[in-house]
Amino acid sequence: MELRDIDTPGHERVLRVQDTDNGLVGFIAIHSTWAGPAVGGLRMRPYGHEEEALTDVLRLSRGMTYKNAAAGLPLGGGKAVILGDPARDKTPAMLAAFGRALATLEGRYWTAEDMGMSPADMAVIAGETEFVAGLPDGPFASGDPSPVTAGGIFNAIRTAARHRFGSADLAGRHVAVQGLGHVGAHLTALLHDAGARLTVADIDPARAARAQRDFGAAQTSSEGILAVEADILAPCAIGAVLNADTIPALRVAAVAGGANNQLATPEDGKRLHARGILYAPDYVANAGGIINVATEVLRIRDREAWVAEKLAALDATLDRILTRAVAEGVGPDTVADATVEAQMSQSAA
Ligand code: NAD
Repeated sequence: MELRDIDTPGHERVLRVQDTDNGLVGFIAIHSTWAGPAVGGLRMRPYGHEEEALTDVLRLSRGMTYKNAAAGLPLGGGKAVILGDPARDKTPAMLAAFGRALATLEGRYWTAEDMGMSPADMAVIAGETEFVAGLPDGPFASGDPSPVTAGGIFNAIRTAARHRFGSADLAGRHVAVQGLGHVGAHLTALLHDAGARLTVADIDPARAARAQRDFGAAQTSSEGILAVEADILAPCAIGAVLNADTIPALRVAAVAGGANNQLATPEDGKRLHARGILYAPDYVANAGGIINVATEVLRIRDREAWVAEKLAALDATLDRILTRAVAEGVGPDTVADATVEAQMSQSAA
C-alpha cells in the first residue's frame, strides 16, 4: 500500500492511495473538519486519467463542506474516489485495501455510498475500519438515503413555489423532472400525491414509461426536458445541466432538484438570476441524503424524529436564503455560499 500526501491549498489533507496488488488507485480528500469529522461518499468511475479523478474529488469534497454546513450538521466535508469501472474492476480485495487506507485517517474522514458503490460494498470496507456509513444492517445502519433526499427536494420545491407564486400548494403546478432513478422516482411519487402535473425524462425509457403509467406523466427527451414550459424544473440526474447553452432555453420560473453540481460554473447562477429564474441551491435542496447518513455517523437513536427536525431546519434555511437573495438582489447560490463561508470564518475566529 502506498499513501502519498498531495499538498492542496484550500484542502486540509489529500491522499493518493495505491495498492497495486489489489488493483486500487484512488484519492481521499478532506476539505474541512471545521465542524466535525469530514463525511462524504466514495465514488467509483472509469475516469479518463488521474488528474480528472483528482479534480472530481477536490470539487466534491469542498461541496460536502458546504452541504453539511447548510444542513446544520456537526460534520466537515470530504470525499473519496476510486478509478475504475465498478461493473468490471471492483473486487472485495480492492475495497478492503481502500478500507485499510481509510483506517489510517483515524476517523477524520468517514466514507459512505456514492456512485458505483452499494451498501454491500460499504460492509466490505467496514471489515477494515469503523469509519463507514451507509451499511446495509447494524444498530445504526441508515439504509438507502434517497427517500429522505427526495423528501428534502419536495420541501424545496414547495418553498420555491411559495416564493415564486405566493403559495406552496403544488396542486395543478407543472413540474418537469429530469432523471427517474432513486431520487427522481421517490420525488415524482411525492409530487403526484401533492397534485402536481408532471413531465419527465430519463435516458432509460422504461423509467419514463413507468412514470407515465403510474402518474400520468408526459414524457420527453433528456435534452427536451430542459426546454419544457413548466412552473418548476427538478434536475435529478446529472451535474452541469444549468449552463450557458441550456439557461437561455429554460421556460420555467424556478429550478429545484436533487442533482449535485447543477450549475456548470458559478457564472451560471448569475445567468439564472439575470433571467429571473429562482434557483434553489442544489446542496441545500438535496441535503436530505447526508442528513440520513449523519444518523449513522453520529449514532442517533431516535432517527425518525431527528431526521424530521433536520429536514424542517433545512427548509427554513432555504426560506431564509431565498428571502435574503431578493433583499440583496443576488442569486440564492451566492447567498448560500456566503452563509456557509460566514459560518466557517466565525468558527475559525
Ligand atoms: P440514480 O443513478 O439512481 O438515478 C439517476 C437517473 O438519471 C437514472 O434513472 C438515469 O437513467 C437517469 N439519467 C442519467 N443521465 C440522464 C440524462 N442525461 N437525462 C435524463 N436522465 C438521465 O441516481 P440518484 O441516486 O437518483 O441520484 C440522482 C442525482 O441526485 C445525482 O446527481 C446524485 O449525485 C444526486 N444526489 C443523490 C442523493 C441520493 O440520496 N441518492 C443525494 C444527494 C444527491
